[in-house]
Amino acid sequence: MNQKMQELISDSQFVLIGIGPEFGYQMDRQEILKKLNMNMDDFSDYMWILDYLVAEEQKRADVSKYVSAYNHLYEMVKDKNYFIVTLNTDDIIYESMFSREKITAPCGSIGRLQCSCGCEGSIQNAEEIVNSIAHQVWSEKRHLSEIERPVCQTCGKPLIFHTVEQEGYMEAGYLKSWEKYRMWLTGTLNRKLCLLELGTDFKFPSVVRWAFEKVAFLNEKAVLMRVCEKYPQLTEELQGKAISIKQNPLDYLRGTV
Ligand SMILES: [Zn+2]
Repeated sequence: MNQKMQELISDSQFVLIGIGPEFGYQMDRQEILKKLNMNMDDFSDYMWILDYLVAEEQKRADVSKYVSAYNHLYEMVKDKNYFIVTLNTDDIIYESMFSREKITAPCGSIGRLQCSCGCEGSIQNAEEIVNSIAHQVWSEKRHLSEIERPVCQTCGKPLIFHTVEQEGYMEAGYLKSWEKYRMWLTGTLNRKLCLLELGTDFKFPSVVRWAFEKVAFLNEKAVLMRVCEKYPQLTEELQGKAISIKQNPLDYLRGTV
């Protein structure tokens, strides 16, 4: 059965890959609270600190099964003209062999911070600040109230993570790669295109799920493969042009080696 993905790829000139939450890493906040021997109420005024701790914890987590799934996928598509749209913000894909130049991540990245009021040029690498906050909590055992919230150098307002869940998310952070993706997609018109949609849900359906369905519908030479454990259903319009596999994409890809 796993052969199917390889067959579809081999038979195509272009491969568009959409990655969703089933392929994403979710750090469990409760785990962190347990380790700190605290509960959510202790953080009620300091939710921002928990965000930093989640980001730091994820940096140290074992994500090898995700990286290897990405690498299996890479091996299958590396000789094709491909592009990736990911809904995930975990940044794990950048640890794989996939080229950064061929990825757009419209939901942002847990590895970056931005100003909460959107100051231009405020998007920055989060690592140093994340490590500093985590150090104050874990090593220095500071009380949450003693930890100073990192702020924007321009306006002094708090920094937030550069992810779509945050109020004030700056779209500017991904527009360049998104534009590149749109151009790439234009070039697939009426070409043999294989769309691989891996583990999406209905949170931002217009970015991958519905968008891919539309592309598959409009391009006569396109074929769509949906691998999804929770929402594998296909629309009737795509009958004969789409295949669905009800399975977690990580498990599916593991079966391809
Ligand atoms: Zn600012």
